[in-house]
Amino acid sequence: MKKIPEASFAIIGGSSTFSIDFPEEVGVSGIEIINSNLAFETPFGESPRFKLFTILDNQNGKKRVLTCKMHGWRPKMDRGEASSGVFWVLKEAGVKKIIAEGGVGSINHLLNPRDIIIPTDFIDFTGRKGLTVVGEYLLIMRQPICPQVHAALLSSVQKYHLGRVFEGGIYLVTEGPRFESRAEVSMMRQFGADIVGQSLSPEVYLARDIGACYAGVYMVVNYAEGIVKDWEHDELKDIFHKESKKIGQIVLEALINITDSQEKCGCMEFRKPTLLKD
Ligand SMILES: [Zn+2]
Repeated sequence: MKKIPEASFAIIGGSSTFSIDFPEEVGVSGIEIINSNLAFETPFGESPRFKLFTILDNQNGKKRVLTCKMHGWRPKMDRGEASSGVFWVLKEAGVKKIIAEGGVGSINHLLNPRDIIIPTDFIDFTGRKGLTVVGEYLLIMRQPICPQVHAALLSSVQKYHLGRVFEGGIYLVTEGPRFESRAEVSMMRQFGADIVGQSLSPEVYLARDIGACYAGVYMVVNYAEGIVKDWEHDELKDIFHKESKKIGQIVLEALINITDSQEKCGCMEFRKPTLLKD
């Protein structure tokens, strides 16, 4: 087991970059891999494998970044525990800004496969309540998504994505790993959700718990059941493999353009000392 290195930034990889070697295979210049095989012992079990890399920013400074994949490792481990382990590592590293990506199903009828959404709010249907890493704060979800990271992702999407982008929306998070039934999707629509997936919670509130800002970019990979038309597995596979590098570019470009400062975004004003302690 190794000592956790310092890093101010993190990228949590989802299904979009799963099929590529991230970040090397994206083809963005100014990246140097420091260590691609880091695993750590955490209070929540052994962490997944992290990579530590640096990326040149606009002022020729170097940002230190930790990245890991949230999908496809140790299938027997509970997803909530896995996330807690990841965020414990990010806390120890001193991470201040986190970018996530993933694929989602569309619930809103206006969305099509390959549309990109940068959600601003969420509904948690995972049933995983009470997960914490630090556990000493009241986590206020008035502004769950960091406006600074959100803005950087939006301009990055506008640069690399020729299709449609939606700069808001509600992400409904399910436990998974199965997809949703038609009746469930119908209920989710009535709840006001635009997209459904398995990767925004608990990450969004664990980020706040460890004092980091969080935002994610998500590509629609299929219609949810009962929405528009039955989705096709071939198209899902096609998006999964063909859009990976673009999503990788979007994430890395946003990373180049953000700073680790939390003075202006205001996210940490929504983390208060808990009143429920002796
Ligand atoms: Zn923020």
